[in-house]
Amino acid sequence: MKIDRPKLHRLYRLLVNWIYPNICPCCEQFIDHNADFCEKCSAKITPYTGENDFIENVDRFAACCVYDENIEGAVLKFKKTACGNSYYAFALRIYKKLKELGLDESIDLIVPIPLTRKKFRRRGYNQTALMANELRYMLDRGFEDVLIKVKETKEQKTLSEYERRENLRGVFEISPNASDITGKRILLIDDVCTTGSTLSEAAGILKAAGAETVIAAAFAKTVKAIPHK
Ligand SMILES: [Zn+2]
Repeated sequence: MKIDRPKLHRLYRLLVNWIYPNICPCCEQFIDHNADFCEKCSAKITPYTGENDFIENVDRFAACCVYDENIEGAVLKFKKTACGNSYYAFALRIYKKLKELGLDESIDLIVPIPLTRKKFRRRGYNQTALMANELRYMLDRGFEDVLIKVKETKEQKTLSEYERRENLRGVFEISPNASDITGKRILLIDDVCTTGSTLSEAAGILKAAGAETVIAAAFAKTVKAIPHK
């Protein structure tokens, strides 16, 4: 009998909800165990309607919402603590967006944008890996830390487009423990996309290692000149 992983995961969430009730990532009100945001905060989120094919090496880009003051707090909290519902909520939004764009069936493996080992130790978790892990249950696909980040990057926000690319050159490598990704259709996950340079660099490494296609998905996309913190 084939295990229905998405169903099993919903059941798991229902049980966990008895001990850790689900909260809205923006206002921290209690919400239904399978909800992403409360209705009030959800109504304030600006859907991303921009381009989906502007990132080099990326076959298709999907973002759920615009990075603005309505979700900034939730994203910043998410980078500071792994507690709460953010990673589930952000992953659920990405799942819905992939369905909407008809991309959910074109994925074999889910790969998160990695942190350097130093940053991971300091933070204690990789927020994009938490999102990717939730998506594995929603999409019922594999999840693997295929990429590693081998050097720290300068703060991207002060750099020009050209400087961003230079800053990112050589920061990602295929993990020595990664399985063969030849011919695989990859879903690359990030929390916030600013110019797409990070996703482009990571997708380039995946393609060079044999990935057939790379769909990149971020919870939020900046649209203003001022990138996220
Ligand atoms: Zn709320």
